[in-house]
Amino acid sequence: MASIFTRIVNREIPCYKVAEDDRFLAFLDINPLAQGHTLVIPKEEIDYIFEIPDNLLGDYFRFSKSVALAIEQVIPCQRIGIAVIGLEVPHAHIHLVPLQTIYDIDFKKPKLNLTTDEFQSIAGQIAEAYERICSKE
Ligand code: 5GP
Repeated sequence: MASIFTRIVNREIPCYKVAEDDRFLAFLDINPLAQGHTLVIPKEEIDYIFEIPDNLLGDYFRFSKSVALAIEQVIPCQRIGIAVIGLEVPHAHIHLVPLQTIYDIDFKKPKLNLTTDEFQSIAGQIAEAYERICSKE
């Protein structure tokens, strides 16, 4: 059965998209630890991040970097933290989490409840920042 993230890639399930190219997709985590908490996935359904082939890994990280820089332009934070857990969804994903303190990337803390409007607004702003970054590269 296709992973929930493959179903997002295939547009069977909606997401708040922030960036996409032919191989990777970034969208807001539906249960965010912080505003702008984003997941970055390879479109190809690969369960474990350390199963990603070498020829994809570098570009996966480069794509994630551009998304992180875009989040930074929109969400006030000290840095973007990255985490890989993967215990819930068997489709590789990097969590990008805006950090003010280390507590912001504590996966045990209560998640934010954002409205659809808030998700859309955040995703739209990050997507615009991402486009600006890509146009300068
Ligand atoms: P992990 O596999 O890293 O332990 O956690 C999976 C992450 O994916 C969680 O943070 C969860 O909120 C997020 N997630 C699970 N299902 C969906 C979904 O359908 N849409 C989005 N945007 N995020 C999801």
